[in-house]
Amino acid sequence: MKPLDRRSFLTRALGAAGVSATGSLNLTAAESPSEKGAAFLKEVAENERIARSKNAKPMIGLGDKLKITKVETIFVKPRWLFLKIHTNAGITGLGEPIVEGRAKTVATAIEELIPYLLGKDPRPVAHHWQAMYRHAFYRGGPILTSAISGVDQALWDIKGKALGIPVYELLGGPTRSRVRTYAHAGTVEQIRRRKAEGFTAFKTGPYKERPARIVENKAFIDKAAQRFAELRAAVGDECDIGIDFHGALSQQTARLLIKALEPYQPMFIEEPVNCQEVDVMADIARGTHLPIATGERIFTKWGFREILEKKAATILQPDLCHAGGITECRLIAGMAEAHYAAIAPHNPLGPISLAAGIHLAASIPNFLCQEQSSLGVGYIKKPFEIRDGYIDIPTAPGLGVELDEELLASKINHDWRNQETYDPEDGSVVDW
Ligand SMILES: [Mg+2]
Repeated sequence: MKPLDRRSFLTRALGAAGVSATGSLNLTAAESPSEKGAAFLKEVAENERIARSKNAKPMIGLGDKLKITKVETIFVKPRWLFLKIHTNAGITGLGEPIVEGRAKTVATAIEELIPYLLGKDPRPVAHHWQAMYRHAFYRGGPILTSAISGVDQALWDIKGKALGIPVYELLGGPTRSRVRTYAHAGTVEQIRRRKAEGFTAFKTGPYKERPARIVENKAFIDKAAQRFAELRAAVGDECDIGIDFHGALSQQTARLLIKALEPYQPMFIEEPVNCQEVDVMADIARGTHLPIATGERIFTKWGFREILEKKAATILQPDLCHAGGITECRLIAGMAEAHYAAIAPHNPLGPISLAAGIHLAASIPNFLCQEQSSLGVGYIKKPFEIRDGYIDIPTAPGLGVELDEELLASKINHDWRNQETYDPEDGSVVDW
Protein backbone atom coordinates (compact mmCIF):
# COMPACT_ATOMS: atom_id res chain seq x y z
CA MET A 1 0.00 0.00 0.00
CA LYS A 2 1.29 3.41 -0.82
CA PRO A 3 1.65 5.87 2.06
CA LEU A 4 -1.34 8.11 2.67
CA ASP A 5 -1.11 11.47 0.96
CA ARG A 6 -1.64 14.51 3.13
CA ARG A 7 -5.20 15.16 2.00
CA SER A 8 -6.48 11.60 2.51
CA PHE A 9 -4.60 11.27 5.79
CA LEU A 10 -6.03 14.51 7.08
CA THR A 11 -9.52 13.69 5.84
CA ARG A 12 -9.38 10.36 7.63
CA ALA A 13 -7.91 11.88 10.74
CA LEU A 14 -10.41 14.71 10.77
CA GLY A 15 -13.31 12.40 10.02
CA ALA A 16 -12.37 9.98 12.74
CA ALA A 17 -12.23 12.84 15.21
CA GLY A 18 -15.58 14.26 14.14
CA VAL A 19 -14.10 17.24 12.36
CA SER A 20 -15.10 18.16 8.81
CA ALA A 21 -12.43 18.61 6.12
CA THR A 22 -13.17 22.33 6.10
CA GLY A 23 -12.09 22.53 9.71
CA SER A 24 -15.46 22.94 11.43
CA LEU A 25 -16.03 20.86 14.53
CA ASN A 26 -19.03 18.52 14.69
CA LEU A 27 -19.43 18.81 18.42
CA THR A 28 -21.96 16.68 20.21
CA ALA A 29 -23.27 17.18 23.71
CA ALA A 30 -21.38 14.06 24.80
CA GLU A 31 -17.94 15.39 23.84
CA SER A 32 -16.37 18.61 25.05
CA PRO A 33 -14.05 20.67 22.83
CA SER A 34 -11.06 19.39 24.80
CA GLU A 35 -12.07 15.78 24.18
CA LYS A 36 -12.43 16.56 20.49
CA GLY A 37 -9.00 18.19 20.44
CA ALA A 38 -7.38 15.23 22.13
CA ALA A 39 -9.02 12.77 19.75
CA PHE A 40 -7.90 14.83 16.77
CA LEU A 41 -4.27 14.88 17.84
CA LYS A 42 -4.28 11.20 18.67
CA GLU A 43 -5.71 10.35 15.29
CA VAL A 44 -3.24 12.59 13.44
CA ALA A 45 -0.32 10.98 15.23
CA GLU A 46 -1.66 7.47 14.66
CA ASN A 47 -2.18 8.00 10.94
CA GLU A 48 1.26 9.51 10.50
CA ARG A 49 2.83 6.58 12.26
CA ILE A 50 0.96 4.12 10.01
CA ALA A 51 1.97 6.02 6.88
CA ARG A 52 5.55 6.17 8.00
CA SER A 53 5.86 2.53 8.99
CA LYS A 54 5.20 1.48 5.42
CA ASN A 55 8.42 2.93 4.06
CA ALA A 56 10.59 3.40 7.11
CA LYS A 57 12.22 0.39 8.72
CA PRO A 58 15.12 0.41 11.16
CA MET A 59 18.38 0.06 9.23
CA ILE A 60 20.12 -1.68 12.11
CA GLY A 61 19.07 -3.12 15.43
CA LEU A 62 19.62 -1.39 18.76
CA GLY A 63 22.27 -3.88 19.77
CA ASP A 64 24.15 -3.78 16.47
CA LYS A 65 27.56 -2.18 16.24
CA LEU A 66 27.65 1.24 14.60
CA LYS A 67 30.69 3.45 14.35
CA ILE A 68 31.86 6.57 12.59
CA THR A 69 34.30 5.76 9.79
CA LYS A 70 34.74 9.05 7.92
CA VAL A 71 33.94 12.75 8.34
CA GLU A 72 33.72 14.89 5.21
CA THR A 73 33.11 18.62 4.66
CA ILE A 74 31.87 19.99 1.34
CA PHE A 75 31.91 23.67 0.36
CA VAL A 76 28.64 24.40 -1.44
CA LYS A 77 27.66 27.61 -3.26
CA PRO A 78 26.61 30.25 -2.45
CA ARG A 79 28.35 30.26 0.97
CA TRP A 80 27.51 27.00 2.70
CA LEU A 81 29.44 24.13 4.25
CA PHE A 82 27.84 20.69 4.28
CA LEU A 83 29.01 17.86 6.51
CA LYS A 84 28.73 14.14 5.86
CA ILE A 85 29.45 11.66 8.64
CA HIS A 86 29.84 8.11 7.34
CA THR A 87 29.42 4.91 9.35
CA ASN A 88 30.37 1.25 9.01
CA ALA A 89 26.69 0.38 8.41
CA GLY A 90 26.46 2.55 5.28
CA ILE A 91 24.30 5.13 7.09
CA THR A 92 25.37 8.71 6.36
CA GLY A 93 24.40 11.72 8.48
CA LEU A 94 24.14 15.28 7.12
CA GLY A 95 24.83 18.56 8.87
CA GLU A 96 25.61 22.22 8.13
CA PRO A 97 28.50 23.44 10.28
CA ILE A 98 28.93 27.03 9.20
CA VAL A 99 29.22 30.64 10.27
CA GLU A 100 28.37 32.97 7.41
CA GLY A 101 31.67 34.13 5.89
CA ARG A 102 33.77 31.71 7.95
CA ALA A 103 33.27 28.41 6.10
CA LYS A 104 36.98 27.59 5.97
CA THR A 105 37.47 28.38 9.64
CA VAL A 106 34.60 26.11 10.70
CA ALA A 107 35.84 23.37 8.34
CA THR A 108 39.15 23.51 10.24
CA ALA A 109 37.28 23.28 13.55
CA ILE A 110 35.57 20.15 12.19
CA GLU A 111 38.99 18.76 11.26
CA GLU A 112 40.03 19.20 14.89
CA LEU A 113 36.97 17.22 16.03
CA ILE A 114 37.65 14.29 13.69
CA PRO A 115 40.12 12.44 15.97
CA TYR A 116 37.44 12.41 18.68
CA LEU A 117 34.66 11.25 16.34
CA LEU A 118 36.37 8.49 14.37
CA GLY A 119 35.53 5.01 15.65
CA LYS A 120 32.83 6.29 18.04
CA ASP A 121 29.25 5.02 18.12
CA PRO A 122 27.30 8.05 16.79
CA ARG A 123 24.11 7.27 18.73
CA PRO A 124 24.81 8.79 22.20
CA VAL A 125 24.29 12.28 20.69
CA ALA A 126 23.99 14.26 23.93
CA HIS A 127 27.13 12.58 25.29
CA HIS A 128 29.12 13.59 22.20
CA TRP A 129 27.79 17.16 22.49
CA GLN A 130 29.14 17.38 26.03
CA ALA A 131 32.50 15.92 25.02
CA MET A 132 33.00 18.20 22.02
CA TYR A 133 31.97 21.29 23.99
CA ARG A 134 33.64 20.68 27.34
CA HIS A 135 36.83 18.98 26.24
CA ALA A 136 37.68 22.14 24.33
CA PHE A 137 38.29 23.83 27.73
CA TYR A 138 37.88 27.21 26.00
CA ARG A 139 34.16 26.84 25.44
CA GLY A 140 31.62 28.49 23.22
CA GLY A 141 32.03 31.13 20.55
CA PRO A 142 30.53 30.94 17.05
CA ILE A 143 33.25 28.79 15.47
CA LEU A 144 33.25 25.93 17.99
CA THR A 145 29.48 25.93 18.54
CA SER A 146 28.84 26.01 14.77
CA ALA A 147 31.18 23.05 14.24
CA ILE A 148 29.41 21.18 17.07
CA SER A 149 26.02 22.19 15.63
CA GLY A 150 26.78 20.56 12.27
CA VAL A 151 28.11 17.39 13.88
CA ASP A 152 25.09 17.26 16.20
CA GLN A 153 22.67 17.50 13.23
CA ALA A 154 24.51 14.70 11.44
CA LEU A 155 24.48 12.46 14.54
CA TRP A 156 20.71 12.94 14.98
CA ASP A 157 20.30 12.16 11.26
CA ILE A 158 22.26 8.91 11.66
CA LYS A 159 20.36 7.92 14.79
CA GLY A 160 16.98 8.52 13.14
CA LYS A 161 17.99 6.57 10.05
CA ALA A 162 19.37 3.71 12.16
CA LEU A 163 16.04 3.45 13.99
CA GLY A 164 13.89 4.16 10.92
CA ILE A 165 12.11 7.20 12.39
CA PRO A 166 12.22 10.98 11.92
CA VAL A 167 14.32 12.99 14.37
CA TYR A 168 11.27 14.74 15.88
CA GLU A 169 9.99 11.33 16.98
CA LEU A 170 13.16 10.90 19.01
CA LEU A 171 12.52 14.30 20.59
CA GLY A 172 8.99 13.44 21.72
CA GLY A 173 7.05 14.73 18.73
CA PRO A 174 5.24 15.41 16.62
CA THR A 175 3.74 18.40 18.37
CA ARG A 176 2.27 19.66 15.07
CA SER A 177 1.57 18.36 11.57
CA ARG A 178 3.09 21.27 9.64
CA VAL A 179 5.53 24.10 10.21
CA ARG A 180 4.82 27.74 9.45
CA THR A 181 7.68 29.23 7.47
CA TYR A 182 8.59 32.75 6.44
CA ALA A 183 10.35 34.25 3.44
CA HIS A 184 12.52 37.33 2.95
CA ALA A 185 11.14 40.32 1.04
CA GLY A 186 12.50 43.85 0.84
CA THR A 187 10.27 45.43 -1.80
CA VAL A 188 6.60 45.48 -2.69
CA GLU A 189 7.32 43.42 -5.80
CA GLN A 190 9.24 40.78 -3.77
CA ILE A 191 6.64 40.45 -1.04
CA ARG A 192 3.85 40.05 -3.60
CA ARG A 193 5.89 37.35 -5.36
CA ARG A 194 6.54 35.50 -2.09
CA LYS A 195 2.85 35.67 -1.23
CA ALA A 196 2.00 34.23 -4.67
CA GLU A 197 4.47 31.39 -3.95
CA GLY A 198 2.37 30.46 -0.90
CA PHE A 199 4.02 32.29 1.99
CA THR A 200 1.87 34.12 4.55
CA ALA A 201 4.73 35.34 6.76
CA PHE A 202 7.66 37.48 5.67
CA LYS A 203 10.69 39.33 6.98
CA THR A 204 12.20 42.56 5.82
CA GLY A 205 14.87 45.00 6.97
CA PRO A 206 14.51 48.71 7.65
CA TYR A 207 14.68 50.76 4.48
CA LYS A 208 17.95 52.72 4.42
CA GLU A 209 19.38 54.94 1.70
CA ARG A 210 22.72 54.83 3.53
CA PRO A 211 24.06 53.18 6.69
CA ALA A 212 22.37 54.52 9.82
CA ARG A 213 24.12 57.24 11.78
CA ILE A 214 24.36 57.20 15.57
CA VAL A 215 21.72 59.93 15.74
CA GLU A 216 19.26 59.73 12.88
CA ASN A 217 17.04 62.47 11.48
CA LYS A 218 13.28 62.54 11.02
CA ALA A 219 13.50 61.74 7.30
CA PHE A 220 15.31 58.46 8.03
CA ILE A 221 12.57 57.31 10.43
CA ASP A 222 9.70 58.52 8.22
CA LYS A 223 11.04 56.81 5.08
CA ALA A 224 11.68 53.53 6.90
CA ALA A 225 8.16 53.53 8.37
CA GLN A 226 6.66 54.48 5.00
CA ARG A 227 8.43 51.58 3.27
CA PHE A 228 7.12 49.14 5.88
CA ALA A 229 3.62 50.59 5.44
CA GLU A 230 3.87 49.88 1.69
CA LEU A 231 4.79 46.23 2.37
CA ARG A 232 1.92 45.92 4.83
CA ALA A 233 -0.51 47.39 2.28
CA ALA A 234 0.80 45.05 -0.44
CA VAL A 235 -0.03 41.82 1.44
CA GLY A 236 -2.79 42.97 3.77
CA ASP A 237 -3.37 42.84 7.50
CA GLU A 238 -3.88 39.04 7.61
CA CYS A 239 -0.22 38.38 6.74
CA ASP A 240 2.67 38.64 9.20
CA ILE A 241 5.77 40.72 8.51
CA GLY A 242 8.75 40.71 10.86
CA ILE A 243 11.41 43.41 10.60
CA ASP A 244 15.09 42.85 11.32
CA PHE A 245 17.12 45.87 12.47
CA HIS A 246 20.23 43.61 12.33
CA GLY A 247 21.50 45.22 15.55
CA ALA A 248 22.76 48.00 13.29
CA LEU A 249 20.76 50.90 14.72
CA SER A 250 21.64 52.92 17.77
CA GLN A 251 19.20 52.56 20.63
CA GLN A 252 17.71 56.02 20.10
CA THR A 253 17.04 55.33 16.41
CA ALA A 254 15.67 51.89 17.23
CA ARG A 255 13.24 53.35 19.78
CA LEU A 256 11.98 56.02 17.35
CA LEU A 257 11.57 53.54 14.51
CA ILE A 258 9.72 51.01 16.69
CA LYS A 259 7.29 53.77 17.69
CA ALA A 260 6.77 54.72 14.03
CA LEU A 261 6.21 51.07 13.05
CA GLU A 262 3.69 50.25 15.78
CA PRO A 263 0.59 51.28 13.73
CA TYR A 264 1.55 48.65 11.09
CA GLN A 265 2.02 45.92 13.68
CA PRO A 266 5.14 44.02 12.60
CA MET A 267 5.18 40.36 13.63
CA PHE A 268 8.36 41.11 15.60
CA ILE A 269 11.28 43.53 15.87
CA GLU A 270 14.48 41.49 15.39
CA GLU A 271 17.78 42.62 16.96
CA PRO A 272 16.58 46.19 17.60
CA VAL A 273 20.10 46.76 18.94
CA ASN A 274 23.18 44.56 19.12
CA CYS A 275 22.38 41.38 21.04
CA GLN A 276 25.25 42.07 23.46
CA GLU A 277 23.34 45.12 24.75
CA VAL A 278 21.00 42.93 26.78
CA ASP A 279 19.97 45.61 29.31
CA VAL A 280 19.23 48.11 26.53
CA MET A 281 17.22 45.50 24.63
CA ALA A 282 15.27 44.70 27.79
CA ASP A 283 14.49 48.38 28.26
CA ILE A 284 13.34 48.64 24.63
CA ALA A 285 11.16 45.55 25.14
CA ARG A 286 9.47 47.21 28.14
CA GLY A 287 8.74 50.31 26.03
CA THR A 288 6.70 48.65 23.28
CA HIS A 289 3.90 46.13 22.85
CA LEU A 290 5.62 44.71 19.76
CA PRO A 291 7.48 41.43 20.40
CA ILE A 292 11.28 41.70 20.46
CA ALA A 293 13.22 38.87 18.80
CA THR A 294 16.89 37.94 18.98
CA GLY A 295 19.17 34.93 18.85
CA GLU A 296 21.16 34.38 15.65
CA ARG A 297 24.33 35.66 17.31
CA ILE A 298 23.70 34.03 20.66
CA PHE A 299 25.15 30.61 21.38
CA THR A 300 24.18 27.74 23.70
CA LYS A 301 21.79 27.71 26.64
CA TRP A 302 24.21 29.90 28.58
CA GLY A 303 23.93 32.63 25.96
CA PHE A 304 20.13 32.64 26.02
CA ARG A 305 19.86 32.52 29.80
CA GLU A 306 20.52 36.23 30.27
CA ILE A 307 18.12 37.19 27.46
CA LEU A 308 15.31 35.31 29.18
CA GLU A 309 16.15 36.34 32.73
CA LYS A 310 16.23 40.04 31.79
CA LYS A 311 13.15 39.72 29.56
CA ALA A 312 15.04 41.25 26.65
CA ALA A 313 13.04 39.22 24.11
CA THR A 314 9.91 37.08 23.93
CA ILE A 315 10.89 35.47 20.63
CA LEU A 316 14.16 33.52 20.58
CA GLN A 317 15.80 32.86 17.25
CA PRO A 318 18.54 30.30 17.88
CA ASP A 319 20.28 29.21 14.70
CA LEU A 320 20.43 25.42 14.49
CA CYS A 321 23.83 25.82 12.77
CA HIS A 322 25.32 28.17 15.38
CA ALA A 323 23.69 27.77 18.78
CA GLY A 324 24.69 24.14 19.38
CA GLY A 325 22.55 22.10 16.99
CA ILE A 326 19.34 20.23 17.64
CA THR A 327 20.41 18.99 21.09
CA GLU A 328 21.08 22.48 22.42
CA CYS A 329 18.19 24.25 20.68
CA ARG A 330 15.73 21.75 22.18
CA LEU A 331 17.03 22.75 25.62
CA ILE A 332 16.88 26.46 24.74
CA ALA A 333 13.25 25.93 23.68
CA GLY A 334 12.52 24.41 27.09
CA MET A 335 14.10 27.38 28.85
CA ALA A 336 12.04 29.71 26.64
CA GLU A 337 8.85 27.83 27.45
CA ALA A 338 9.45 28.39 31.16
CA HIS A 339 9.64 32.14 30.41
CA TYR A 340 6.58 32.11 28.09
CA ALA A 341 8.83 32.91 25.14
CA ALA A 342 8.52 31.44 21.63
CA ILE A 343 11.05 29.92 19.23
CA ALA A 344 11.52 31.10 15.64
CA PRO A 345 14.66 29.35 14.35
CA HIS A 346 17.04 31.61 12.43
CA ASN A 347 18.10 30.16 9.08
CA PRO A 348 19.57 32.04 6.13
CA LEU A 349 21.46 28.86 5.14
CA GLY A 350 20.79 25.63 3.27
CA PRO A 351 18.28 22.78 3.27
CA ILE A 352 19.96 20.72 6.03
CA SER A 353 19.70 23.70 8.33
CA LEU A 354 16.05 24.08 7.32
CA ALA A 355 15.39 20.40 8.01
CA ALA A 356 16.97 20.68 11.46
CA GLY A 357 14.73 23.66 12.26
CA ILE A 358 11.62 21.82 11.06
CA HIS A 359 12.39 18.83 13.28
CA LEU A 360 12.86 21.15 16.24
CA ALA A 361 9.58 22.90 15.43
CA ALA A 362 7.82 19.53 15.25
CA SER A 363 8.99 18.57 18.73
CA ILE A 364 8.34 21.69 20.82
CA PRO A 365 5.15 23.40 21.99
CA ASN A 366 6.34 27.01 21.75
CA PHE A 367 7.23 27.25 18.07
CA LEU A 368 6.34 30.45 16.18
CA CYS A 369 7.75 30.44 12.64
CA GLN A 370 10.73 29.00 10.74
CA GLU A 371 13.02 31.18 8.61
CA GLN A 372 14.22 29.96 5.20
CA SER A 373 16.07 31.36 2.22
CA SER A 374 16.16 28.10 0.24
CA LEU A 375 13.68 25.25 0.07
CA GLY A 376 16.50 23.08 -1.28
CA VAL A 377 15.67 23.28 -5.01
CA GLY A 378 18.83 22.28 -6.87
CA TYR A 379 20.39 20.71 -3.77
CA ILE A 380 18.17 17.93 -2.42
CA LYS A 381 16.15 15.18 -4.07
CA LYS A 382 12.82 16.25 -2.62
CA PRO A 383 12.83 20.02 -1.99
CA PHE A 384 10.50 21.33 0.70
CA GLU A 385 7.18 22.73 -0.50
CA ILE A 386 5.18 25.64 0.81
CA ARG A 387 1.42 25.31 1.04
CA ASP A 388 -0.75 27.98 2.65
CA GLY A 389 2.33 29.30 4.46
CA TYR A 390 3.37 25.93 5.88
CA ILE A 391 5.78 23.06 5.18
CA ASP A 392 4.49 19.56 5.99
CA ILE A 393 6.65 17.80 8.55
CA PRO A 394 8.87 15.20 6.84
CA THR A 395 8.10 11.53 7.34
CA ALA A 396 11.38 9.96 6.14
CA PRO A 397 13.85 8.67 8.76
CA GLY A 398 16.47 10.97 10.27
CA LEU A 399 16.36 14.56 9.04
CA GLY A 400 14.55 13.36 5.92
CA VAL A 401 16.86 15.17 3.49
CA GLU A 402 18.81 13.46 0.71
CA LEU A 403 21.40 15.39 -1.28
CA ASP A 404 21.04 15.34 -5.05
CA GLU A 405 24.67 14.68 -5.94
CA GLU A 406 24.08 15.30 -9.65
CA LEU A 407 22.64 18.77 -9.10
CA LEU A 408 25.21 19.51 -6.39
CA ALA A 409 28.14 18.81 -8.73
CA SER A 410 27.88 22.26 -10.35
CA LYS A 411 27.74 23.99 -6.96
CA ILE A 412 30.84 22.62 -5.26
CA ASN A 413 33.35 25.13 -3.82
CA HIS A 414 32.96 28.82 -3.19
CA ASP A 415 35.00 31.76 -2.08
CA TRP A 416 32.29 33.72 -0.30
CA ARG A 417 33.30 36.92 1.45
CA ASN A 418 31.02 38.97 3.65
CA GLN A 419 30.40 42.46 2.34
CA GLU A 420 32.47 45.39 3.62
CA THR A 421 30.46 48.41 4.76
CA TYR A 422 31.69 51.96 5.27
CA ASP A 423 30.10 55.33 5.89
CA PRO A 424 29.98 56.87 2.39
CA GLU A 425 30.75 60.32 3.78
CA ASP A 426 33.76 59.71 6.04
CA GLY A 427 34.86 56.14 5.27
CA SER A 428 34.47 54.84 8.81
CA VAL A 429 33.41 51.24 9.34
CA VAL A 430 29.68 50.83 9.94
CA ASP A 431 27.32 47.94 10.62
CA TRP A 432 25.27 46.78 7.68
MG1 LIG B 1 18.69 38.73 11.73
